[in-house]
Amino acid sequence: MKTAIYPGSFDPVTFGHIDIIRRISETFDRLVVAVMRNSEKSYLFEPEERAEMIRSSISGLKNVEVVAAEGLLADFAKQVGNAVLVKGLRAVSDFEYEFQLALINKKLNPALDTMFLTADDRYMFLSSSVVREVASYGGDISELVPEAVIRRMREKFPGI
Ligand code: ADP
Repeated sequence: MKTAIYPGSFDPVTFGHIDIIRRISETFDRLVVAVMRNSEKSYLFEPEERAEMIRSSISGLKNVEVVAAEGLLADFAKQVGNAVLVKGLRAVSDFEYEFQLALINKKLNPALDTMFLTADDRYMFLSSSVVREVASYGGDISELVPEAVIRRMREKFPGI
C-alpha cells in the first residue's frame, strides 16, 4: 500500500489545500499531511497550530493524518515508508520550484517519487500569503479559508 504525503507550510490552510487533500484522500488509501518548517521562512502560526487548523477542517476524511514534521522531507518520507509525495500546482510559476524540489528529494531518497495535481480553477489564485495579506488589511477571507482558520486569524487580526 502506497501512502501519499502532502507537504507544505499551510500557514494557514486554504480551500485550495483542502481541495487537494480531499482529492488525494480519494485516490490513495492513506494520506499524511506534513506541516513543514522551512528555516528561511517566518510563519504566522506555530506548526502545531497549523496542523490543528487542518485537522479541524477535514474531520470527514477518515484516511488522513496531519503531522507537524521536523527536518528533511526526504527523511520524513523514509520514516513513513513506501510513500509518494503529492504536490498541488497552480500555475507555471509553481512548476519550476516544485520540479527542482522533486529532483532534490529523489536524489536524497531515490525511492521517493513526486506526483502533481492541478489546482481546481476556483482556487488557482489562492495562496496562504494572499490570505495573510487580505486579513492584514481587514479584508473578508470567508471565501478563501475554512471556519477554523477564520477564528484563529481573528485572534491575529481583530479587524476581520
Ligand atoms: P502556499 O503557496 O499557499 O503558501 P504551501 O507551501 O502551504 O502553500 O503549499 C503546499 C502545497 O500546496 C504546494 O504543493 C502548493 O503548490 C500547493 N497549493 C497551495 N495552494 C494551492 C491551491 N490553491 N490549489 C492547489 N494547490 C495548492
